[in-house]
Amino acid sequence: MSEPLNNFSVVRPKSIDEAVSVYSSDPNARYCAGGTDLIVNFRRGLVEATTLIDLSGIDELKSLKADKKGLSIGAGTILREIAENTKIANSHPAISQAAGTIAGPGHREAATIGGNLCLDTRCYYYNQSHWWRKSNAYCLKFRGEICHVAPKGDICRAAFCGDLAPALLVHGATVEIAGPKGRRTIPLTDLYGEDGKDYLKLEPGEILVSIYCPADDLKSAYSKVRIRSSIDFPLAGIAVASCAAKDGSTRFKLALTGTNSTPILVNTPDDLAAGEDPEPYFEALSKLVQKAASPLRTTTVTPHYRRLAISGLAKRLIRELYDA
Ligand code: SF4
Repeated sequence: MSEPLNNFSVVRPKSIDEAVSVYSSDPNARYCAGGTDLIVNFRRGLVEATTLIDLSGIDELKSLKADKKGLSIGAGTILREIAENTKIANSHPAISQAAGTIAGPGHREAATIGGNLCLDTRCYYYNQSHWWRKSNAYCLKFRGEICHVAPKGDICRAAFCGDLAPALLVHGATVEIAGPKGRRTIPLTDLYGEDGKDYLKLEPGEILVSIYCPADDLKSAYSKVRIRSSIDFPLAGIAVASCAAKDGSTRFKLALTGTNSTPILVNTPDDLAAGEDPEPYFEALSKLVQKAASPLRTTTVTPHYRRLAISGLAKRLIRELYDA
């Protein structure tokens, strides 16, 4: 059963400046892109907004440009468009693959890349109806005093489950942000914080405007495990990119989602040297992934399984990219 919704109004600005100005006039406003996650949380009483600012009427957020210089995607671009874009599939395959596996086709028709990057963190004790959470004294992330997953801790450990962040991270993405103080561009890594309650480093009133990835010569891929492979959020997901140097060595980049409160770009050691036996190197990388992942009991699936799964996925993708 959902908690009865408070009265709220919906406004549909035509520009980013107008949206920011509406936000400034109501401190309880929330931006809404596709709404596929936000509206569910709103109905469960997890979002207490008096104004929803519907961003779907802002043309600037829907731009998509893929050329020799790189890839620029407006934050309001829907996932289906990204998944079906053949230029992205050729130039930045992990991004195309990640977009194409998010939720189901109906969601991808409404959900946006900006919404996926700003996706609320998830936890078994949080993504529940109001009466369920109330019966369990709520939790640290919203209205409660303690974390049921890590009761001795003082931060929320809910998992970040966006699929696009790791794919964009391995391609060196930056994001443009607009807000009451103007515009700024930051590396995508700087958008996220460690606390599952305060996981986005956006100032009040700031909106994600666009995402940019430079042109590169990386091969890349994305894979994940989930309970129902047609619709669920990832229990663990990984993007891998690789690049062969002129001396015959190969460099790998790895990024994770679904296991920590923030997407993680894994620092890889030395490149795989030309002529080096690749299997021990692949094994070392998969161990690094296993170490970087720190899943807790935020889902019904055990942390041990999720850690082993992400390490196994990593090894499989690394090997596939290397063989290709
Ligand atoms: Fe709540 Fe803890 Fe779950 Fe965060 S990790 S949502 S504080 S139970």
